[in-house]
Parts: sequence; structure tokens; C-alpha cells
Amino acid sequence: MIIVLKPNTSKEEVDHIMKKIESLGLKAHFSKGETTSIIGVIGDESKLSEQPIDAISGVEKVMPVLKPYKMASREFKASRTVITVGDKKIGGAAFTVIAGPCSVENEEGMIRIAKELKARGAHFLRGGAFKPRTSPYAFQGLGRRGLEILAEARKVTGLGICTEVMDVRDVELVASFADIVQIGARNTQNFNLLKEVGSAKKPILLKRGFAVTIEEFLMSAEYILANGNPDVILCERGIRTFETATRNTLDINAVPVMKDLSHLPVFTDPSHATGKRKYVAATAYASMAAGADGVMIEAHTDPESALTDGAQTVNCEEFSEIMATLSRIAPAVGRTLS
Ligand code: PEP
Ligand code: MN
Repeated sequence: MIIVLKPNTSKEEVDHIMKKIESLGLKAHFSKGETTSIIGVIGDESKLSEQPIDAISGVEKVMPVLKPYKMASREFKASRTVITVGDKKIGGAAFTVIAGPCSVENEEGMIRIAKELKARGAHFLRGGAFKPRTSPYAFQGLGRRGLEILAEARKVTGLGICTEVMDVRDVELVASFADIVQIGARNTQNFNLLKEVGSAKKPILLKRGFAVTIEEFLMSAEYILANGNPDVILCERGIRTFETATRNTLDINAVPVMKDLSHLPVFTDPSHATGKRKYVAATAYASMAAGADGVMIEAHTDPESALTDGAQTVNCEEFSEIMATLSRIAPAVGRTLS
């Protein structure tokens, strides 16, 4: 349920409404908007059926939320979520580029890549230490050692790091190293993992599973929000369709749709969406034009030698070109690429 407040409702009136809701064992979330402020109510709303909430001073109207997700919905939060990570803001006017190799491979290589990408304008460094591989015989990532290497790369370059957690048992470990914790496409509906990262004190980059609808995806975000973590970034990374020309199909529609349905920042991952290096630039530009708040791009100093996902990984020159073109598109769509 959403309680829409009258303009100029006083702080005392807001506090009174919040206390009333909480006294019934429900959670109340106040959200101040530029013109309209709201209180989102979470919990068993049947407890409110006997309570004339709309008769309380300061209440304009009471609206049921018809969507299955609440905290992730635009109705629930009047303003768009902007996540602060170190000195960077994710969402709002900022367009954020997370770049790096698919996997952390070794310390020397990772630091070389990090320095190159930093010099070319990347805002965050990515790299998987725990890799979700289709084959159990394929490289599985360096695990804890990979996280230590990422921390070293952060120390050298100042870039915040984004890395994936696959297992509930590793959430504390990964969150202690990462600036942004990634949940991969294969775990979008791993509800225990979602609950666990709900209590992590780090922002979560949640990828959309390749057979997950937008509504189901927002329900996954809801798990994280409802378990206490308000900092969720939605990432469209390509879905499975009948098309075989690309690894997946970037659902560009999902960008404006999710921005319409949710207040959370929306990213895309052109690398996994296309699976082919030569299509990464165009789909990154399309993402910015469609209103995305950022992109995640796989980049490597030597993609041919990459242990994983080399075919979709851009080299440093291609990355520079992408950054240069994004910075030219940015002003046309009201973005800054800083
Ligand atoms: C990745 O980011 O390297 C990755 C495995 O992504 P996804 O979960 O989207 O396949
Ligand atoms: Mn990858």
C-alpha cells in the first residue's frame, strides 16, 4: 500500500502516520519527492482494513499496489535511487562504465588491465573470482586469491571493484572485498542467495537471468530490498530467443520498461548480451540512448589470451573508442560520463 501525502504535510504529521503503521506491526518507508511525498507500507495489509488511514491529517489518498513487487516499484519511492559508491554516484545524471576481464587470471595481468582501463576512463573494475561455468572442467576462477588480486588492483588504480558471488557461503567474504557485489544471470532466482545479499552492506548488481521475465526480475530485486539492502542495480544482459546470430539477445526494451516500473538504476551488459566483440560498441551506445544508467563491458589488454569470454571481450583501443563515443552521445541524452 502507498500512502500519498498532501503537499506541505508537516514532519509531526508524517511521524504520526509512520508510528500508527508501525504500531500495527507493519513497516513504513517514507520517501520525499519534489512535489509529492509518500509512505510505502510493507507487511500484512489486512491489519489496516479496520484503520481509516485516509482520515489521518496529512494523508491525501491511500493506493493499493497492484504489482507483485512493492519496494522495487516506482510507486513505492518517489525519487529515483542514486547509489553512492566511494566518490561515484550510480544513477541520476551519471552514466557509469564498469569494465574489466571476464575472470581474474593473475595479479600482473589484472593490474595491467586495471591501469589501462582507468587511464581510458572506466569508473569501476570488474573481474570474476568465482566463475559460473557451464562445464565443471572449465576454469572456475581463482576464488579468494582472485579477490585479493582485485583488492590490489583497486589499491593501485583507485577503481572500485565489482565481482560476482555465487554461493551463500561466500557472501561475507566477497562483500568484504567488493565495492559492488554481482549476482550472475544463473542466480537471478537463487532466492536464498538473494536473501543473503539483502543483509550485505554493499550495493548489488543483479543480472537478469536469460529466461526471466521483467516482472520475475523485479521480484528478485524485491527479495534483496525486502531483506534490508536498498542498493540494487538491475542489469539486462541478454535473454535467450530463437536468434542464433548472437550469444543472447539484448532486450533493449527492458531498459525503458524497467525505468518505467522501478526507481532502481538500470544497466546493460553488451558483452554477454551479444557474445561478439564487434557488436559490443553499438549495443552500448543503444543502451545509453535508451536511458540506461550504465554498462558493464568485458575488456582485456589481450582478449585472445583471455581464459574466459575472450570472443566478446574488447581490447583497450576498442574500449577507448567506446568511451569516446559514449561521451559524445551523453550530452544528447542528458548524461554525464565522468
Ligand atoms: C559475467 O559477468 O562474467 C557473467 C558470468 O555474467 P552472466 O551472469 O550475465 O552470464
Ligand atoms: Mn563473462
